[in-house]
Amino acid sequence: TKMLKQETTVTPPPHILIFPVPLQGHVNSMLNLAEILCLSGLHVTILLSDYTHRRLLRHASLDSRFSRYATAFRVATISDGLPDDHPRSGHRILDIVLSLKEVGGPQFRRLMESSDGGGRQRVSCLIMDGVFSFAIPVVEEMGIPFVYFRTISACSFWPYFCIQEIIDAGEVPLKDKNEDKLTFWKKKEMDLMVTSVPGMEKLLRRRDIPAFCRVEDVNDPGFQSIKTETKKTAQATALILNTFEDLEGPVLDQIRKHIPNLYSIGPLHSHLKSLLKEKGIESSHHSSSFWKEDNTCIAWLDSQPPNSVIYVSFGSITMLTKDELLEFWYGLVNSGYTFLWVVRPDSVIGDRDEIPVEIEEGTRLRGLMVEWVPQELVLGHESVGAFLTHSGWNSTLEGIVIGVPMLCWPYFADQTTNSRFVSEVWEIGLDMKDTCDRVLIERMVREVMGVRREELLKKACGMANLAKKAICEGGSSYMNLNRLIEFFKSTVL
Ligand code: UDP
Repeated sequence: TKMLKQETTVTPPPHILIFPVPLQGHVNSMLNLAEILCLSGLHVTILLSDYTHRRLLRHASLDSRFSRYATAFRVATISDGLPDDHPRSGHRILDIVLSLKEVGGPQFRRLMESSDGGGRQRVSCLIMDGVFSFAIPVVEEMGIPFVYFRTISACSFWPYFCIQEIIDAGEVPLKDKNEDKLTFWKKKEMDLMVTSVPGMEKLLRRRDIPAFCRVEDVNDPGFQSIKTETKKTAQATALILNTFEDLEGPVLDQIRKHIPNLYSIGPLHSHLKSLLKEKGIESSHHSSSFWKEDNTCIAWLDSQPPNSVIYVSFGSITMLTKDELLEFWYGLVNSGYTFLWVVRPDSVIGDRDEIPVEIEEGTRLRGLMVEWVPQELVLGHESVGAFLTHSGWNSTLEGIVIGVPMLCWPYFADQTTNSRFVSEVWEIGLDMKDTCDRVLIERMVREVMGVRREELLKKACGMANLAKKAICEGGSSYMNLNRLIEFFKSTVL
């Protein structure tokens, strides 16, 4: 009887710990992966900063999204070490990473050592974002494998990975310490090609490499941190990327030469939707927004003619100066097209009260400004004809899945490379790059909504179809995900 009892005892499934950078885009991607793993019968704990967890609890209902998985999904928290009133946006997001590096190690160790599983396995594998290598010695000591999930594109991960080669070729640093920002951007040298990133020799100009690589001093702590952390990806058991083979195949092949165990499983948000559908689970819009979503914009969109509105959003981190805000506003108004524009409460540098009243009055005639929207619903609305975006990777993928032409104004990080690929490789949008000028904005809005829309739309629809194919049964992302889940299952043996 004793043996029989042992045989019938059900072993709890593998338990995966997921550790994202606690920022909106990263958390969105990682929660999508978390839900996919729960759907596949695995147990998941997501590790958030307590600050981010509080914001999620305020505005998004993680409970209703994950309640169907019962105890399979849990949240754990650690402190990011920053005071509550730290802005955590714009260029200051680097503080989060640097601070977590300082305070995260001991907290992570305590968490791993105290975790009793509560009826679940002990953690059998760690999935982490690209900047938390302080977790590596802890899991290595415990014999737990770790996997990197970089929530950026393959086309921006690859130049990050090649940064030493870029430095050796003298293509970085770019900027003289004493130069002011304006002269720097206007410099002709920014148009020189970067020839040290294999496969991208004819594509990347200096202004297209990831913005964190364009430093004035290679000893800059943020830059050094990204450089060393990225190199450590090769130590991981595997690398997950939220992309698909038909979108980034050649770049993925380059990365595979160094990291053969590479799983492209995106676009994750639509992969998740399709798996929910496959299992007959109704998937209404589930938010993981840090801000309150303004749903009134959907009724407003309902009242607009098809393809008549340009949707404008610069994501969760971008901050505009008042001058930039005005250039966009004049450009949009003068284009003659109607706009729906997300202006986050914390996204304008300086005192909001100083923003001219003309903005509010003029906006009433030409469009709608809101603080935060359910973006996937907005992009999928038939009134939206184009997407003016900062080229964050989640936004780019959400645009690709819908097949909406994009106008790109990259702000920083990976966005400068994404926008280059949108315009020059996939040809599904136009790239404004580092210019912010009302005349140019007006012209480019007219192009993306008017004269060039058909041509861009055709390519965008083609890519949207390839995205759908990738996540359907037999598609590349579908099969890669199955392989990945098999790998996770093998981690408890
Ligand atoms: N987003 C949203 N509502 C908005 C603006 C953005 O839900 O009003 C979501 C968007 O759908 C995307 C994420 O916020 O999933 C932004 O991530 P992305 O990688 O595009 O940019 P980041 O914010 O990291 O710069």
